[in-house]
Amino acid sequence: MPSQSPQDLNPARELRLVLGDQLNAGHSWFALPDSQVLYIMCELRSETDYALHHVQKVVAFFMAMRLFAERLLAAGHRVHYVRLDDEANTGSFADELWRIREATGATAWSWQMPDEWRLDAQMHEIARQWNAKGFQTHVVDSEHFLTERSDLAAHFAGKKTYLMESFYRMMRRKFNVLMEPEDSPSGGEWNYDATNRKKLPKGHVPPHPMLWDRDPKEVVDMLTEQGVQTVGEIDMRSLGWPVTRAECLALMDHFIAELLPRFGDFQDAMTRDSWVVYHSRLSFGMNVKLISPLEVIQAIEACWRENPDHADITQVEGFIRQILGWREYMRGIYWAQMPDYAGLNFFGHERKLPRWFWTGETHMACLRHTIRQTLDHAYAHHIQRLMVTGNFALLAGIDPDEVDAWYLGVYIDAIEWVEMPNARGMSQFADGGIVGTKPYVASANYMKKMGPYCSDCRYQAKEKTGPDSCPFNSFYWQFYDRHRDKLARNPRIGMAYRTWDKMDAQKRAEILETAANHLENLESL
Ligand code: FAD
Ligand code: SF4
Repeated sequence: MPSQSPQDLNPARELRLVLGDQLNAGHSWFALPDSQVLYIMCELRSETDYALHHVQKVVAFFMAMRLFAERLLAAGHRVHYVRLDDEANTGSFADELWRIREATGATAWSWQMPDEWRLDAQMHEIARQWNAKGFQTHVVDSEHFLTERSDLAAHFAGKKTYLMESFYRMMRRKFNVLMEPEDSPSGGEWNYDATNRKKLPKGHVPPHPMLWDRDPKEVVDMLTEQGVQTVGEIDMRSLGWPVTRAECLALMDHFIAELLPRFGDFQDAMTRDSWVVYHSRLSFGMNVKLISPLEVIQAIEACWRENPDHADITQVEGFIRQILGWREYMRGIYWAQMPDYAGLNFFGHERKLPRWFWTGETHMACLRHTIRQTLDHAYAHHIQRLMVTGNFALLAGIDPDEVDAWYLGVYIDAIEWVEMPNARGMSQFADGGIVGTKPYVASANYMKKMGPYCSDCRYQAKEKTGPDSCPFNSFYWQFYDRHRDKLARNPRIGMAYRTWDKMDAQKRAEILETAANHLENLESL
C-alpha cells in the first residue's frame, strides 16, 4: 500500500489531483509519465465525514485508490499518496494541496471536473486562491461520461418536462447503439420495459454472486484507530466489491456470461435467496471510473450481435437503457438543477426517518430484509431501493433531507450526482416531477406480486384497516388523500382518486384512522 516518502516531494512543476472517484487509467493525463508532474491522491476526513457512510463503501474507496496509486507508480508516474493516518494529513483538499505545493515548489495545479457539486465548488475556491497568489490552475474533463454536464439541459431547452425516453433515443442515435439501418431500433422496439417485470419462479435461485478475497483488515483497523464513524457490516475475510480495473472487467464478463440472459426478465423481482438476483453490481466500478460506461455498453452489444441466442434483445436493451439512458440522464438532471435541487421538498414532508432504517429492526418483513441486506452488503437493487425503502419513506412523509442522507450513506455506489436525482427525484418526487411523471408509490399488492416477504410478515398484506393491517395499504390512500391539491390534476393519477372517491365514506375514515395510528407508532412498526 502506498504511503508518503520524502522523495515523493522532490521538486515538481505541476500538481495533478486525482479524486477517489476518478480512477480512470485511460485518462489522457496518464498517456506518458512526466517527471515534472506529481499526482496527488488523498484520504481525507472531509470525505469520510460528509455523510455517515457504510463501512464497505469507505473501505472500497480507499482500497481502490491505493491500488490505483500503485498502478500509476508501476507505470512510471510520480504519485504522492496521503493516507488518512499520515501525521501531516490536514484533512482538507485546500490545505493538502498547499502543503504539497510548498514542499515541491510547484507553480501549477490541475484537477479533473468533479461529479459532485460540493467538490466542484471546493475546487473552484481553491483555484481562486491559487490564482490570487499568481499560480496557474487548469481544469480538465474526467473523460468518463458520454455526455457533457450541460447536454441534457440543451436537449430539453424550452421543454417543460425532461422525458427520459426522449433523451435515451437521442443517445441511441448519437452513439449508434442497438441501431439498424434507416434509423430503426434493433428488434423493432425502442424500449422493452413492459416485458421486464417477471416474478422469480418458485424455487428458482439466481447464480451465486462473484466475490473477491481481498483482506480489508488494514483499512478497517485504520478507520477504527482514526475514529471514523461508519454504519453496516464488513466481512473481515474479504471485501465483496471489485477494487481494480481487472476485477471490474471480470465482473462484467461474469455478468455477461451468467446474468445478462435473465437480467431484463427479473429486473424488478425480489427474493430472499439472493442479494444480487440478476443485477450486474457494476455501479461501484463505473462510479469510481475503473470501468467506463461506453465499454460496458459496447461489450453487451457486441455479445448480442455475435450471439443473439445467448441473451435476447429484451434483456440487452433493458440493461443498456440503464447505463446509456438512466445513468447519463440522472447526471444531466443533477447538473441542470443543482444547487437548488438539494433543497426541493414538493410535498413539504418533515417527518424524521425512523431509527430502524439504520438497524433493520422493524416488524415489516419487506423493510427488515431490504435494510438488513443493505447493512450486510452495502447493496440493494433498484426495485428494493425504489419500491421498498423509498416507497415507504414517501408514503410516510419523511423529510427528503433525511432520505437523501440515508441513501448517500448506505450504498456502495452512492455519490451525490447519481444518488440525489434518484432518491430525492425518482423515489421521493420531492422535485415535483422533474425526473418522474408521477410518484412511485404502491400498496402491499405490489410487494406481494414481486417478492416473497408478505407471506412471512407480522402485518396482513390483504388488510387496509386495523392494527395488523399492512402499513403500506393505509399509507397509500392517506398519501393520495393528503396531497390531493398537488396530485389530482396529474392525468396519470386520476384512476387512484376515482377509486378512493368511490370507496364507502366509513371505509375511507377507517383507512385514514389506521394510517394515523401507524404513523404515530412509526418507530415501533
Ligand atoms: P444494474 O441493475 O445491474 O444496472 C446497471 C447499471 O445501470 C448500474 O450499475 C447503474 O450504473 C445504471 N443504472 C441503473 N439504474 C439507474 C438509475 N436509476 N440511475 C442511474 N444509473 C442507473 N445508483 C448509483 O449508482 N448510486 C446511487 O447512489 C444510487 N442511489 C439510488 C437511490 C434510489 C432511491 C434509487 C431508486 C436508485 C438509486 N440508484 C443509484 C440507481 C440504481 O438503483 C443503482 O444504480 C443500481 O441498483 C446499482 O446496482 P447494479 O450495478 O447492480 O445495477
Ligand atoms: Fe411489507 Fe406489508 Fe408485505 Fe409486510 S405485509 S412484507 S409490511 S408489504
